[in-house]
Amino acid sequence: MRTLFKSALVALLFASAAHCQSPSLRLFSETRPAMGTKFTIHLFAADERKAAEYFELAFDEIDRIEEVLSNYRPSSELSRINSRAAQEAVTTDPEVFALLRLALDFSRRSNGAFDITVGPLVRAWGFFRGEGRYPSAEELAKARAVVGWKNVQLDPASRTVHYRFPGVELDLGAVGKGYALDRVIELLREAGVQSALVDAGSSTMLALGAPPGEEGWRVQIPQPANRTQSVSSVLLRDASLSTSGSYEKFFRLNGRTYCHIFDPRIGEPVQNMLQTTVIASDATTSDILSTALFVLGPAAGKELLRSGPDAKVLWIQGEPQALQLDFWRWPDPVFPSASSPRQSPRRPLADRQFVQRRFFQR
Ligand code: ADP
Ligand code: MG
Repeated sequence: MRTLFKSALVALLFASAAHCQSPSLRLFSETRPAMGTKFTIHLFAADERKAAEYFELAFDEIDRIEEVLSNYRPSSELSRINSRAAQEAVTTDPEVFALLRLALDFSRRSNGAFDITVGPLVRAWGFFRGEGRYPSAEELAKARAVVGWKNVQLDPASRTVHYRFPGVELDLGAVGKGYALDRVIELLREAGVQSALVDAGSSTMLALGAPPGEEGWRVQIPQPANRTQSVSSVLLRDASLSTSGSYEKFFRLNGRTYCHIFDPRIGEPVQNMLQTTVIASDATTSDILSTALFVLGPAAGKELLRSGPDAKVLWIQGEPQALQLDFWRWPDPVFPSASSPRQSPRRPLADRQFVQRRFFQR
């Protein structure tokens, strides 16, 4: 694997005026490892003691969700389902059932491009706890035989999950972090926080309200090929942003790049997509959509969006020196522009207050 780093995905910018307008509230930030990445919480609170209370509440909730959804932990509810659902219909709790239902609904709507049964493919291509490798024909055939969202049967009446045959497994890697952020923001809001930005390894972010005196949280989206340059700058307020990128985990072989996001319908990593960024009203949706639309690409992706959830999308394809951009209701200017990628001005991330980095370690 060439790199395990995903460099700066976002930079947050605050005008210092915000702090003057609301002297009683100060910005506090805390970062902790979770879900194979780092979660950062930024929030405005009256004092350090209050902020620490909010951080405990939030990080405890992230830990709780990881303990339920992780397929890296044998003790998780998801692992329990994976180990038993081929033999019998397994009753699960309402929270997990609702999330599985939502994820499988997106599989149906995306014609199988988004598929939480993708795990055996991830493993066959060496991305589960590993660095990626080309599978043997036998390994690939074995994985393809069990991957498919239709192999999972949910029964709402009994709240059960049943797999059609052994080998099927669920992997919530493309949705779990977004779901955790939604739950955290719900808890913080109930606790009285009015302004927060929660960030799951910079791949998904969710904004509650706006910094005092500001219209929203300013988030820079770096270019896939040059992480020190911004490709677009968006203002998030009660909205989420997710990015799926081919440069996050990948390996190269015979001139081709194989990344950790799969087209489950062909059993191979997605080719020719650099980055897909989605803005939606909640982080579960933006996380699912960034993966689904990465797989689908702009043409089929727009078909889905016509009947789908309200979202704004920026696709980036092409070569580092000639990025090809495509949009769906994207609210802000994009640099370089699609028409003249070489000559367009590039926005440096010069006035950033801080830049986040992501490091993968499972
Ligand atoms: P990130 O890891 O940056 O959050 P994604 O949200 O796109 O990126 O999730 C990628 C992960 O989702 C992969 O590591 C894999 O576990 C899983 N995955 C890969 N391809 C698919 C797919 N087509 N549908 C659902 N999950 C997928
Ligand atoms: Mg995702």
